[in-house]
Amino acid sequence: MQQSLPVRFIQVTEVQRITPRMARVTFGGDDLADFVCDAPDQQVKLYFPRPGQSAPRLPEPGGDGDVMRWYQAYQAIPEDERPWMRSYTIRAHHPRRRALDIDFVLHTDEGEEEGPATRWARAAEPGATLGMFGPSAAFARPVPLGSADWTLLAGDESALPAIGTLIEALPEGARAVAYIEVADAAEEQRFTTAGEVEVHWLHRGGRPAGARGLLLDAVRSADFPPGSVFAWLAGEAGALRSLRRHLLAERGIDRRSVDFTGYWRLKLTQDDAPTEEDLAEARERLADAQPND
Ligand SMILES: Cc1cc2nc3c(=O)[nH]c(=O)nc-3n(C[C@H](O)[C@H](O)[C@H](O)COP(=O)(O)OP(=O)(O)OC[C@H]3O[C@@H](n4cnc5c(N)ncnc54)[C@H](O)[C@@H]3O)c2cc1C
Repeated sequence: MQQSLPVRFIQVTEVQRITPRMARVTFGGDDLADFVCDAPDQQVKLYFPRPGQSAPRLPEPGGDGDVMRWYQAYQAIPEDERPWMRSYTIRAHHPRRRALDIDFVLHTDEGEEEGPATRWARAAEPGATLGMFGPSAAFARPVPLGSADWTLLAGDESALPAIGTLIEALPEGARAVAYIEVADAAEEQRFTTAGEVEVHWLHRGGRPAGARGLLLDAVRSADFPPGSVFAWLAGEAGALRSLRRHLLAERGIDRRSVDFTGYWRLKLTQDDAPTEEDLAEARERLADAQPND
């Protein structure tokens, strides 16, 4: 039997500013009745309405489960009516309440134009409706938590929701070291975990997000714990590329033990076409998924 696609409408029930630059939006709605989220680092696509729309216009999910057909129908919506699409992480799922939390970085730095997702999150109020696609098993890359002697987690605040779910999902006694870049001390968060976790908060101290070097310098000068490592990296794409290069070339970590995802691109929106470097990154990710020669 073909599965229908995981496309839903979700409604805001609560908005909290958990830190000055992070909004936690809780969503509910009948469409969440059969929602399942049983692993950390679950990614979704959110669809934001255009001005004048009370809900985003989405294609019917259809019964044939064909993602590409659904995406083509989405692309065929006239541009001024087609919802903006952005990627986010399920920060928490509350099945009994049929609710889920998504944390939005309110990332606008001085002089930067606000993206539609951030603009929406800054003004979000109960009742507002978004579309959501996922999480989809087709795109899932489960993180092998606890399979190596220790886990390295590194990223900026856009990765903080995912890092939070990964830290909280660590098996008892599993070791992890996290390097997290945030604007300042007010953006730090606390996590509950059964693991042995060491978190290093890196403050930009007035530098804009995406200014490269902070994460790389911190990881480069770190004394790594002994034993095998699995590394999970996410955040600004260029910063991550140099971090990954360091882990592979200077630390000698096997490329298949490094999971890396560019979550956003400096000076580019998620609507902008991929750059040469993005395409190279996509090719590397594909290669990483292949067995070694
Ligand atoms: C798999 C995945 C999971 C993600 N999970 C989360 C999540 O849980 N929470 C979250 O907040 N983000 C998350 N992101 C990142 C988020 O999708 C991007 O930050 C996205 O660009 C935000 O959309 P926007 O409309 O605000 O900005 P866009 O319209 O895409 O960009 C507008 C401008 O803002 C800049 N910009 C975009 N993001 C940032 C940022 N984080 N910091 C500084 N400048 C930025 C761009 O360079 C551009 O100049 C995730 C991304 C991926 C791929």
